[in-house]
Amino acid sequence: MTGWLAIAGLGPGDGTLVTPEVSAALACATDVLGYAPYVARVPVRDGLRLHPSDNRMELQRADDALRLAAAGRNVVIVSSGDPGVFAMAAAVFEALEASPQWQGIAIRVLPGVTAMLAAAARAGAPLGHDFCAINLSDNLKPWPVIEKRLRLAAEADFAIAIYNPRSAGRPDGFARALEILNEAGCGDRIVIFAHAVTTSKERIETLSLREARPEMADMATLVIVGNSATRRVGRWVYAPRRAP
Ligand code: SAH
Repeated sequence: MTGWLAIAGLGPGDGTLVTPEVSAALACATDVLGYAPYVARVPVRDGLRLHPSDNRMELQRADDALRLAAAGRNVVIVSSGDPGVFAMAAAVFEALEASPQWQGIAIRVLPGVTAMLAAAARAGAPLGHDFCAINLSDNLKPWPVIEKRLRLAAEADFAIAIYNPRSAGRPDGFARALEILNEAGCGDRIVIFAHAVTTSKERIETLSLREARPEMADMATLVIVGNSATRRVGRWVYAPRRAP
């Protein structure tokens, strides 16, 4: 039996946003690994082994997935959204680099709808012009790097998608991020707080950066800061396609 490993994105939450390609991989998998809440989204069936784990276990999980695939299992490792966006695909390649004996394993990366695209679609088209994405977690990078990127993104007038804005363990970073953007002269920019997009708990709030409060974000929120030309039309927010 030849094993394989698929690194799959489950999309932002709603089942209709799981791609047919990902569903097909899950349908013929023998093992599914991932952070427990994501594994809980996978349909259970006889013969499918689920391996939920903690969210800080990424390298261990990647190793486990590679080991199972090397032993002939059909393995899917799941992320929310897209697996290449602040998620498991990079962790698997890091594990692969450290373990050359696994480099012959058949690996596929199966894309998913990342949170910023689902959030942008709800709001209108805030990513219609140039944009960047910043992960506000400083678990894997120093905070000064995040500050520098925020400042330069504001200066470059990108729309900014902010992932992992705020958690119980990191209550202050997002407050500081808002301060930095206000200091950079972005107070009038439109900000979208997109909470739990495409789930039953979805909530979208749109206001100016100056009015934004840190408590408006949590770990299930994707924040989009518009560029200087981002505007409203009715209930929609969009970035004009011409350079501001
Ligand atoms: N790989 C994922 C991102 C993982 S980082 C993706 O491509 O979407 C986790 C962060 O993604 C969360 O803190 C939040 O900022 C964002 N996120 C994930 N799902 C979301 C959803 N349904 N609604 C809003 N934000 C979401």
